[in-house]
Amino acid sequence: MQRSATRLTVLALLAISAISRDAWAEAESKPAKRPEAVAGQRIAAAYPEAIEKIDGNWLVWRDGTRMPLDDGVGAKSFTAWLDNPDIEDMLRLPYVAGAGPAEPAPDDDPGRARNAAFFDKMYGDCRKGEVKGKLTTITWLPSTAGQRLEVTTVNGVAQRLEAISKELDSLPPSFRKFLAPAGGTYNCRSIAGTPRTSAHGYGIAIDIAVGQSDYWRWAGGASGKIAYRNRIPLEIVHIFERHGFIWGGRWYHYDTMHFEYRPELLPLLEPGAGPEPPPAPAEK
Ligand SMILES: [Zn+2]
Repeated sequence: MQRSATRLTVLALLAISAISRDAWAEAESKPAKRPEAVAGQRIAAAYPEAIEKIDGNWLVWRDGTRMPLDDGVGAKSFTAWLDNPDIEDMLRLPYVAGAGPAEPAPDDDPGRARNAAFFDKMYGDCRKGEVKGKLTTITWLPSTAGQRLEVTTVNGVAQRLEAISKELDSLPPSFRKFLAPAGGTYNCRSIAGTPRTSAHGYGIAIDIAVGQSDYWRWAGGASGKIAYRNRIPLEIVHIFERHGFIWGGRWYHYDTMHFEYRPELLPLLEPGAGPEPPPAPAEK
């Protein structure tokens, strides 16, 4: 009796240790719990034409190029995050698409950090003349403005912006002043006040009407609290977001005319989904 009770206890302990060992193994085999793996998986899903897979801490491109997701530097200040983000850092701050008007919290700039090696590889380095050959010209608001704009063909950005343009073109006339003339698209330049290449240098960004826009630097926000200001209607913002573009008006360091193609920040977008078709014409 004594012996059989001991045996049962031993068996029970073995069973418990087997359960806990399995749970541990399961946790270890779930790299999705590591922030760099979460970021990597979102990037791979957002850019299926360019990215083949995630291999541990490595982003593997379809041509075999490997880039680290986490640079191992550890915690970064806001300035270090902005100036020298690794690929994981680009997704550190969640971007809330489809949200209503909200004043961003201090330094809440989702999408403002771009890993230069990642973007140079994806779209080319305009300073080395690698972007021009990938650009095409689209017609902005074909029935109302008809403005010609240069954007990249990489990742279908030109087609997506064309689909956005058609949707915006069908908005009521009161929206037109916010959209045209557009401030510009491709421009090989640095971000004002920094040495970093602007999203405009990759051909993935558009500035809509400058005259209706607000920018944190114009608000004298270089020091202290920045007063938020925006006049761009959210109907316009939501159309861009549905096609994979983020809006600079959701940044504490706001730039309300600015939109750029960043599908990795938009979980609402189905992985690999193309642009939404333009809405059917209203019945008469
Ligand atoms: Zn811009």
